[in-house]
Amino acid sequence: MTTQPHHDTPPISHTSESKTFIQAKALSDRIWDQLKEDASKYRMLTGDRPTGPLHIGHYFGSLANRIKLQKMGIESFIVIADYQVLTDRDDVGQIQRHVRDLILDYASVGLNPFEHDNTTIFCHSQIPELNQLILPFSTLVSVSELQKNPTIKEEAQAMKLNNISACMLTYPIHQAADILFCHGQLVPVGKDQLPHLELSRKIARRFNERYARNKNVFREPTALLAEVPMISGLDGSQKMSKSRHNTINLNMTEKETIKAIKRAKTDTERMITFDPVNRPEVSNLLTLLSLCTDRSPQSWAEEIGDGGGGMLKQCLANHLNIFLAPIRERRRALESRPEFIQEVLDHGTRRARKVAIETLDTVRSVMQMQYNFK
Ligand code: ATP
Ligand code: MG
Repeated sequence: MTTQPHHDTPPISHTSESKTFIQAKALSDRIWDQLKEDASKYRMLTGDRPTGPLHIGHYFGSLANRIKLQKMGIESFIVIADYQVLTDRDDVGQIQRHVRDLILDYASVGLNPFEHDNTTIFCHSQIPELNQLILPFSTLVSVSELQKNPTIKEEAQAMKLNNISACMLTYPIHQAADILFCHGQLVPVGKDQLPHLELSRKIARRFNERYARNKNVFREPTALLAEVPMISGLDGSQKMSKSRHNTINLNMTEKETIKAIKRAKTDTERMITFDPVNRPEVSNLLTLLSLCTDRSPQSWAEEIGDGGGGMLKQCLANHLNIFLAPIRERRRALESRPEFIQEVLDHGTRRARKVAIETLDTVRSVMQMQYNFK
């Protein structure tokens, strides 16, 4: 399988891609194929920072694949990366509200531990044994490897940071702890996460070589990419991102969705064509339309033709609202149960801690750091 096509037209992304991306995509495709044969030997870990509501970039870039893996029966760990909120800002902001909203977002799209017993949702700040892995892991990568990370450079630029903190520089190390503590091997993420994940793979490999005498304590995790691994924002020029104010959030009302799409950037050419390289803004809207209708962006471009940007936006708003309707309905039902959020977290913390305690035990044991001098 080369992508996960939902229509028999050419794949959506046509932009020139880096070697790292092509390699990661090939690996991701291979794993998707293997999953069809036998899903039972895998575990999934992925997550989000509680910095704001989830958007459709999250949905199409990662959540849809999480749901797919959950349905395959794969044990799924979802980390709410609360400490990592502080990588690019000075305070935690409205973290209580954001954690609550994140859990509602998850459950609204179907990631609900009480409906799927294979799902665990937890905050990494609540799992001390997970955080203890950061120290040994930090011995396994060099400062220059961390400094080369293109995602960190890009995010620092997007947030207009003059200085990056050690916490931001070491992002891939704490992320490796999040992934490896539960032996997560499948990591459904967007393209921005690939450089981080490459370092997680190195950390797993080097830990086994350096500290475990080549015993396979950790398996190298694989990024599972979506058909469109990076959804651009409504400004068309950069990644759709909570911090960049260019999102359509899953919790928006119908009216808010229409309004957000009306503000999306297009270009001056009336005829609608799908041309991601030369017409990124229009092509991004066509891509979104394609993703929520299971039809190719090219066929939408042909249908809209000289209807122009106005018609494109109207079509997208209509179809996205249809697509989001069941998600909104589930959210409404859950909002009437305030105890639900705490139940999810208590359940997740219990389960994640149990796994983290076992992993830390193994790590200490192979590092000869269990002492019993009696
Ligand atoms: P922030 O701006 O606070 O960093 P974000 O919108 O980038 O927020 P994250 O919490 O950093 O969201 O990302 C969570 C997951 O969603 C990651 O796997 C990331 O790759 C994926 N993701 C986020 N934005 C997109 C996007 N625009 N397209 C595809 N995947 C995305
Ligand atoms: Mg981000």
